[in-house]
Amino acid sequence: MVEQKKPFDRKSGGFNRGGPGKFNKRPVRSKAEIEKMRNERLAQQHAEHLDNWRPRTKLGKLVRAGKVKDIDEVLKQKVLEPEIIDLLINLKSDVLNIGQAKGKFGGGKRRAWRQTQKKTSEGNVPTFSCMAVVGNGDGYVGLGYGRAKETLPARAKAIRKAKLNLRKINRNCASFDCTCGEAHSVPFIVEGKMGSCKVKLMPAAQGTGLVIGDECKKILRMAGVKDVYSVTNGKIRTTINLAKACIEALDKTVRE
Ligand SMILES: [Zn+2]
Repeated sequence: MVEQKKPFDRKSGGFNRGGPGKFNKRPVRSKAEIEKMRNERLAQQHAEHLDNWRPRTKLGKLVRAGKVKDIDEVLKQKVLEPEIIDLLINLKSDVLNIGQAKGKFGGGKRRAWRQTQKKTSEGNVPTFSCMAVVGNGDGYVGLGYGRAKETLPARAKAIRKAKLNLRKINRNCASFDCTCGEAHSVPFIVEGKMGSCKVKLMPAAQGTGLVIGDECKKILRMAGVKDVYSVTNGKIRTTINLAKACIEALDKTVRE
């Protein structure tokens, strides 16, 4: 069959110009829509991965078979597969800004990726590292650090390790000027230390918010702590150590 030629359209200024042609059928989407679609796709991939997951450890097989359903039971043992945690609890994740941007416009701006280099005779070999925090916003939190030759695998490793490092924390209403009885703050004053970084968390009344640096805020939010006063000490610009100190402080809410 011979294709029919379209008549010259004077209004739109040419052959089919401006109208719904072959190349502009793509729907116009806003940024929020694209973000939503991406999240849906990732969630689907994640669910698929869990469905196809074949456990290799004894604990993994028990969880897969549905014989162990309690996350606290699991956390008493050594967990080697992040899927175990994923099956039992719904986690959110966030990355901490441990690195800095290079180059123009001031440089030194805080970024999620810490870029380091090894010098070799063939040239420089860059490595990226990343620190992730996972939590369900209700008493469970984990921190992980991952390194890789590219940025995205580094984040994946960090999230994996954060899941394996999951822990339970205690929360309570312990401020002297609050009597609500909800678990919204730390139960008593706790201190954590890593390197020179010291973090001291103190109970606060309902509505205070998180009175602490932004990176620690991410951790506390994931842990489900809503109100806290804090004192930090030492070289807190080293975000890695600051985050570890913060986790250690949260850990002490259980041990003592
Ligand atoms: Zn309270």
